[in-house]
Amino acid sequence: MNPTTHSAEDVTDTHQTACCVVGGGPAGVVLALLLARKGVPVTLLEAHHDFDRDFRGDTIHPSTLEALDHLGLADRLLQIPHGKLAAMQFSSNGVVTTVARFSRLKTKFPYIMILPQAQFLEFLAEEARKYPSFRLVFGANVQRLVQDGGETKGVRYRAADGGWHEVRAAVTVGADGRFSKTRSLCGAAPVKSSPPMDVLWFRLPRRPDDPRDQITFFVGGGLFVFLLDRGDEWQVGYALMKGTFAEAKAAGLDALRADLARQVPWVADRVETVRDWKQVVVLSVESSRVPKWHQPGLLLIGDAAHVMSPVGGVGINYAIQDAIETANVLTEPLKSGRVSEAQLAEVQTRREAAVKVIQRFQGLVQDRVVKTALNKDRPFRLPLVARILLKIPVLRDLPARLIAFGFRRACIRD
Ligand SMILES: Cc1cc2nc3c(=O)[nH]c(=O)nc-3n(C[C@H](O)[C@H](O)[C@H](O)COP(=O)(O)OP(=O)(O)OC[C@H]3O[C@@H](n4cnc5c(N)ncnc54)[C@H](O)[C@@H]3O)c2cc1C
Repeated sequence: MNPTTHSAEDVTDTHQTACCVVGGGPAGVVLALLLARKGVPVTLLEAHHDFDRDFRGDTIHPSTLEALDHLGLADRLLQIPHGKLAAMQFSSNGVVTTVARFSRLKTKFPYIMILPQAQFLEFLAEEARKYPSFRLVFGANVQRLVQDGGETKGVRYRAADGGWHEVRAAVTVGADGRFSKTRSLCGAAPVKSSPPMDVLWFRLPRRPDDPRDQITFFVGGGLFVFLLDRGDEWQVGYALMKGTFAEAKAAGLDALRADLARQVPWVADRVETVRDWKQVVVLSVESSRVPKWHQPGLLLIGDAAHVMSPVGGVGINYAIQDAIETANVLTEPLKSGRVSEAQLAEVQTRREAAVKVIQRFQGLVQDRVVKTALNKDRPFRLPLVARILLKIPVLRDLPARLIAFGFRRACIRD
């Protein structure tokens, strides 16, 4: 990584801490909580004014629930009204194939919990606020790295009033997601792989008697559609071959609504609620990894280090596991006030293989499943190897395990 220098601004105040975490997503909030509970001074900077914004996954995986259980928080979290996914399945021409059955996994939490992410993050932040060493600043838009002699010493952010503020820290952690400012400021260039699709993202009303407890991918005839349960709404993901949005838009909303009603007949009674393209957002799906997650005084984790495609819905889980491993490695050095680059590198060493494996898995699913499904001229079938694997008792739960726990699960070390 080649660091960039910052220009001088009038700084209203400077705050000193041990760890400055940029970004209040799953990676940043979990890291700040884990450090604060060990008495490490930590400042969490979030650009928005709350945790409530659109297009965040709402999935909480078994490995995250186990980690929260370790902290004594899982039972309380589960008291918040939520949904539970017991399985993930494909539906094509009326034939339903279960590809991941979480209920068979050996864990206290054999399901994916579905909870609006804003509530999840607020729950964690509320817990973190109990520790005096925790500080959360909303509306803090990080724009500069503070650097000295090739080492990052903190950040500068602009607050809502337009003023500049500085946070100085032994370590700055960039957990600011797929469009990470920290990553671009430190000159880290992600190596991108380009999944063959983009996703149209919109809402439909949810009725009380709609299917529940599983996520179904409706595939075939050139379509790949999935619906995520958000309480009184469905979050609809409608995959498109990359670069074909202009074509879809030219075909018109009537065509989109007709496709949807054909593919998922039980939503035909409400597709008319999508009246305007303004209700539809195009999300560019990408996947990438920076070769080096660290430089002196600075570490990147979560999507800032490796952008995850939405396949399998594992990005949040991976971001949280990065945070757990970061806390495992850095808590003691941060307490002593000295963190070497070798210690920052250890976080990458512990997490990188897991990221590579899951991104390879996502790439395979995108190429062999999503791409085939989006091909209008070929009837959809799961690849032969997947059909065989799902019939062999000792192997059939591999996809469920990979989605539920990730590869090389990180556990909180006390
Ligand atoms: C369409 C789509 C659907 C997805 N669905 C799922 C799903 O169902 N389940 C799943 O597990 N994953 C899903 N993912 C992936 C998942 O969203 C990410 O992998 C995950 O959010 C990464 O967490 P993070 O904490 O690293 O970053 P983020 O969740 O992106 O959080 C980064 C935070 O940093 C803040 N920030 C950004 N810039 C700055 C700045 N300059 N200063 C201060 N703060 C800043 C942002 O406001 C944000 O709060 C999906 C992705 C897409 C594109």
